Amino acid sequence: MATVLCVLYPDPTDGHPPTYARDSIPEIARYPGGETTPSPRGIDFVPGQLVGSVSGGLGLRPYLEKAGHRFVVTSDKEGPDSEFERLLPEADVVISQPFWPAYLDADRLAKARRLRLAVTAGVGSDHVDLGAAIERGITVAEVTYSNSLSVAEHAVMQILALVRDYLPAHDIVRAGGWNIADAVKRSYDIEGMEVGVVAAGRIGRAVLERLKPFGVRLAYFDKHRLPADVEKELGTTYHDDVRALTAAVDVLSIHAPLQPETYRLFDDELIGTMRRGSYIVNTARAAIVDRDAVVRALESGRLAGYAGDVWYPQPPPADHPWRSMPHEAMTPHMSGSSLSAQARYAAGTREILEAFFDGTPIREEYLIAAGGALVGAGAHAYTAAAGQASPGSTGR
Ligand code: NDP
Repeated sequence: MATVLCVLYPDPTDGHPPTYARDSIPEIARYPGGETTPSPRGIDFVPGQLVGSVSGGLGLRPYLEKAGHRFVVTSDKEGPDSEFERLLPEADVVISQPFWPAYLDADRLAKARRLRLAVTAGVGSDHVDLGAAIERGITVAEVTYSNSLSVAEHAVMQILALVRDYLPAHDIVRAGGWNIADAVKRSYDIEGMEVGVVAAGRIGRAVLERLKPFGVRLAYFDKHRLPADVEKELGTTYHDDVRALTAAVDVLSIHAPLQPETYRLFDDELIGTMRRGSYIVNTARAAIVDRDAVVRALESGRLAGYAGDVWYPQPPPADHPWRSMPHEAMTPHMSGSSLSAQARYAAGTREILEAFFDGTPIREEYLIAAGGALVGAGAHAYTAAAGQASPGSTGR
C-alpha cells in the first residue's frame, strides 16, 4: 500500500458546483504534432467537471482506493504545521500543481524519506527543487502539453485586453457609466504592431500561430531556432538574443521555463530596453520578472500594460503590489486550469500513476527527472544538476 499525498487548490467559495455552464467539452484525441492526449486505462470523472480542487481530487480516489492505496487530498500546504508537511514523511507519491504549488524545496524533500514520485498535475515543475530530487533519485513527472494550448489562448486574450484596454472599459459599464472618451483614451489596435514571444515551445509557438491572422509582425527568441519552414509559414523573425527582441517589439509574451538562466531576467535594465508604451504578458512564471521593476515601469510609462496569471509566491499576499499597480490585467493562476485543461491533466496524472504502480515506463515526454538525471521533457526545459537549487522551489 502506498500513500499518495495530493495538494490541490481549495473548493469554490460556494461549494462544489452542482451544475455547469456547458454539458460537455470537445473530445481532443491528439495535440498538434500528433502526440496523443492522455490515455489512461480508465477515468472516474466526467470531463468538463471541476476535478482540480480538493473535493474533485483529480478524479483519482476510486482508482487509488480500490487498489488499496491511501489517498490524502489537502490544500493546507504552507509551513511546518500544514497537513502537507506533516504527512510528507509518509508519502510515497506527491501530486501537486503550479496553480497552488506545494513547494518541494530541499528541506522538504529531505523530510520526504519514502518519496519516490513527484507528479505535477499540469506543466512546469519549477516548484520542485529538481537538483535535490535528482540527488535523491526521485522521479519527477508532469503532464506535458496538457494545458499548453489553454495557456496560449489566455495569453492572446490578455494581449488583446491590454492593447484594447478592455478591462477599464468594462468597468465603466459595470459602474453605470458611458463616457466613450474615457474608454478609448488608452485603447489601440494590435494590427500592424510588432509582437514577440520569449521561447517558442508548445505555448510560445501556439501564441505566434494564433496571432498571425491579426496582421501583426511576429518575432521570437529561443535557445534553439524553429525549422525554416515554420518560420516562413508564420512569417516570424528570429532574434538570437533576448535584448534584440525586447528592443524590437511593441508587445512581448513570455513562455520560457523558470530556471537559473531565466530567473529575474526581466529587471529594470532589460525592461528599459523596450519601447516606451510596450506591453508584457507573462503566463510562464512570475519569478522570470522582477516584481518591483514591473511596477516601476508601469508607473513611469515604459510599460503601457502588464498582464499574466503567474505570481510569486502563490497565493500572493493581500498587499502584493501587482494587485494594485496601474494598467494591469492580471488573473489568478488559472490559464492552465480551465475545465477543459483539468480533464487532460487529471487523465494524464492517472496515466502516470498507472504506469508507476504497474511498474511500466512512464511516457518519455512526461518525464522531468529520473534515475538521478534530467530526462525526457525535463532535459529540454531545465538545466538543474544534482544539488543545484531550483529558483522557484522555496515559495519565498
Ligand atoms: P515547452 O517545453 O514546450 O517550451 C519551452 C520552450 O522554452 C522551449 O522551446 C525551450 O527551448 C525554451 N527555452 C528553454 N530554456 C530557455 C531559455 N533560457 N531562454 C529561452 N527559451 C528557453 O513548454 P510549454 O510551452 O508547454 O510551457 C512553457 C512554460 O509555460 C512552462 O515551463 C511553464 O512554466 C509555463 N506554463 C504555465 C502555465 C499556466 O497555467 N500559466 C501552464 C503550462 C505551462 P528548447 O526546447 O529548444 O530547449
